[in-house]
Amino acid sequence: MATEWTEQPDFTEVDELVDPVDPVELVDSYGRVHRDLRISVTDRCNFRCTYCMPAEGMVWMPREDLLTFEEIERVARVCVERFGIDSIRLTGGEPTVRAHLPRLVAKLAALGVNLAMTTNGATLRTLAPELKAAGLSRVNISLDTLRSERFADLTLRDQLDSVLDGVDAAVEAGLAPVKINTVVMRGVNDDELVELAAFGRDRGVTVRFIEWMPLDADHRWQSDAVVSQAEIVAAIGAVFPLEPLRRGSEPAERFVYRDGRGEIGVIPSVTRPFCESCDRIRLTADGQLRSCLFAVEETGLRTLLREGASDDEVAAAVSRCVAGKWAGHQIGQVTFVQPRRSMSQIGG
Ligand code: SAM
Repeated sequence: MATEWTEQPDFTEVDELVDPVDPVELVDSYGRVHRDLRISVTDRCNFRCTYCMPAEGMVWMPREDLLTFEEIERVARVCVERFGIDSIRLTGGEPTVRAHLPRLVAKLAALGVNLAMTTNGATLRTLAPELKAAGLSRVNISLDTLRSERFADLTLRDQLDSVLDGVDAAVEAGLAPVKINTVVMRGVNDDELVELAAFGRDRGVTVRFIEWMPLDADHRWQSDAVVSQAEIVAAIGAVFPLEPLRRGSEPAERFVYRDGRGEIGVIPSVTRPFCESCDRIRLTADGQLRSCLFAVEETGLRTLLREGASDDEVAAAVSRCVAGKWAGHQIGQVTFVQPRRSMSQIGG
């Protein structure tokens, strides 16, 4: 006998009754269309890269402020369904320190997006197969030096071997492509450009050299410590001749080796900013939406989610955030203001 309860439609049936909304482009006032969502899952990290975080004294986000996996999935779903977001990257902090990460990966992969992660790679030997099975497609692994002592000085952790093993583990798990992210700093690791490029050629992975940006918690960034794209390409090209590729929508400018053994990328955020083609928005671990790494204002989604906002209301907040995106960051100009939050708190 049917009870009153069983006669009620369940949530699946209710969802089916609602007309799906056709996606509209998430466009800002400069006409840039946004398709890429970066999600930070934690501000915590098991490394202390000196160009990013202080050795001690970091104030962590209270745990209750972190979005739950269900809340993250909700924001992602709204962005996918309403705005055609088709690419999601998980980051942090260090995303792999968030417990049960593969569960989140499975939820996001089910949205049908191209799902990537940026990680320091130290735990990939254990995690890579599970992440791959859950639906992660590709991974970027941060590696700024191949020298053990320098690695320990830079990250304040003696874990170069784990990271190198993590690179192999990612490749073996079938995450593809595996890319290496290398932040280049003058007087710190700029003497290793050719070694790092050779490492990428040998392992069949693309190394992406990143200009150091003023997003460090210690505010030690200085423009003369930035090694420019021109310098990076000249140093590597002198040993392994390079050919530039036409720039696409991605942040990296790509250069192929003339001998056909792969390519490098350079992310010249400081000397050749690519703001005019930026298609990214960022969700911080505590549920703030940012239209730019360097934004000084954020749109709070956590409160909306926790106060029972509808999908329409969440989508409207996302649109408002993107509508207010500025033309570009102003690094190097007197008007530049370093954001209150550092890279690890925003999500790189
Ligand atoms: N923990 C993960 C990792 O190590 O890749 C993900 C978060 S980390 C903040 C993301 C990327 O930002 C890393 O490749 C890191 O090297 C880079 N990064 C951190 N601080 C930076 C800065 N001030 N300028 C440029 N890149 C930076």
